[in-house]
Amino acid sequence: MKSPSIIVIGAGVGGLAAAAHLAQAGMHVTVVEKNSRPGGRCDQFTRDGHRFDSGPTLLIMPLVYEAEFAALGASMQEMLDLRRVDPTYHLVFDDGRRFALTSDLKHMQEQLESFEPGSFRGFLRYLDEGERHYDLAMSKLVMRDFRKASDFFTLSNLPLLFQLKPLTRHYQNMGIYFDDPRLKAAFTFQDVYMGLSPFDAPATFSMMPYTELAHGVWYPKGGMYSLVEAQMEIARSSGVEFVFGASVEHIKVNGASTHGVVLADGKHLNADVVLANADLPYVYQNLLPQDGMVEKMSRKRYSCSVISFFWGVDKPYETLSPHTLFLADDYRENFESITQDLDLPDNPSLYIHAPARLDPGMAPPGEDTLIAIVPVGHMDENGDQDWQQMRNQARQAVFSRLANIGITDLQEHIKFEVCYTPQSWLKRYNLVKGSTHGLSHNLTQLGYFRPGNRHSRYQNLYFVGASTHPGTGLPTALVSGRLAAKRITEDLGVI
Ligand SMILES: Cc1cc2nc3c(=O)[nH]c(=O)nc-3n(C[C@H](O)[C@H](O)[C@H](O)COP(=O)(O)OP(=O)(O)OC[C@H]3O[C@@H](n4cnc5c(N)ncnc54)[C@H](O)[C@@H]3O)c2cc1C
Repeated sequence: MKSPSIIVIGAGVGGLAAAAHLAQAGMHVTVVEKNSRPGGRCDQFTRDGHRFDSGPTLLIMPLVYEAEFAALGASMQEMLDLRRVDPTYHLVFDDGRRFALTSDLKHMQEQLESFEPGSFRGFLRYLDEGERHYDLAMSKLVMRDFRKASDFFTLSNLPLLFQLKPLTRHYQNMGIYFDDPRLKAAFTFQDVYMGLSPFDAPATFSMMPYTELAHGVWYPKGGMYSLVEAQMEIARSSGVEFVFGASVEHIKVNGASTHGVVLADGKHLNADVVLANADLPYVYQNLLPQDGMVEKMSRKRYSCSVISFFWGVDKPYETLSPHTLFLADDYRENFESITQDLDLPDNPSLYIHAPARLDPGMAPPGEDTLIAIVPVGHMDENGDQDWQQMRNQARQAVFSRLANIGITDLQEHIKFEVCYTPQSWLKRYNLVKGSTHGLSHNLTQLGYFRPGNRHSRYQNLYFVGASTHPGTGLPTALVSGRLAAKRITEDLGVI
């Protein structure tokens, strides 16, 4: 019997994972990617010997990577040359005080007690809660899918309403562990990885600081793009075929099914199944016939965006650690400005990554490679935002933050700058509103409420990636790929 054919739209991390699973299940898989290289948001570029991971910079939840590599018959340890980053982050507050987040409990105790006497006990209790949340959320929500309401609303899931604190706001929950607002910020800023404000995020997300400290933040030699290279090796050896530089113009539908795609150059590609890895709201808005879903998508909440600077500099800044975070005192106003006003805060919290501290190969000898990421609101509907002005403000904010820690000469040593704004994210990867993390992860867009892996009308059209279940992030993209592939193979009866 002829093996079923499938077209995957997009070579993002979720698309690559799904493609490899489907090929291993015996399907004929072709991945069609608009850009000239795979990876999607997990991208990298090199200029004058400086290598920049332009999207993810943190490998977190290593146990998930390990399990997902194993599910494809591969070994993460063999394919990625990983080192643990500890301290994970160096935090710098507005008053100049610093805090290193580390798995060294003695060092944590000394630092915590110097900020707030008695807070080490609060920290240990917080870690306990984070561990409970991590274990439950992973097994009950993340690692499985919800094909119908009765999969989600079960008696056995009912206790999760109390156990995972989904109805309590994360920041509000911090009051039972710490009084010092700097400590509350130190253990909630990770919500921004979900594109969320800790003032909106469910307290469930204490699982993030927990996994970072307990399982570690890691770094693969060669940068985060090594993950994509490993995925490509697995996919190619599993028989997946790739077409790069080919943008899908629309998905061909007929009644309740799809039978392939049409490319921007007019070429038709037919297949038994289509799997869209491109951002799900973009697929509804641009690749499918316009129906009620377009309006429904525009009413959804979207995650924030970021302005990123990539600098090749002609001297090393050895005092900068791999991951430095500047956390603003006006933490709440920062998030309100981003999520409600879709703006750049006056005094933005921001993140600097210096990959050459972890892997000297990321910069030419005697020089440095620096990345600054400044969270900002996503693009608004009416196009009122002045991105050039916001970019300039963001750049100045980075320089003045660095000056606070004694780095005053960076501007004179920048050889070149590349900058991405939300407009770049939209253009490069077709991310609706330039939202770097796709659909937001608020309570009404999680679990069963998040768009699932199969289209409700076109029965052989499926979705994978950040705006579907389980959500944003590289480990979740790997899970999403496996879940989508499982659903397809089960529906087709090929396993
Ligand atoms: C700045 C930034 C920092 C991040 N930091 C981290 C981090 O530290 N750790 C972490 O785990 N995660 C991080 N993330 C999140 C992570 O990168 C994403 O969640 C993940 O990469 C999304 O993968 P995906 O499978 O949804 O595919 P995407 O990356 O969205 O890929 C989809 C692909 O589809 C292609 N495509 C779109 N439209 C078409 C079309 N019409 N035709 C053909 N192809 C098309 C796109 O070009 C793209 O390659 C970060 C993201 C960003 C942007």
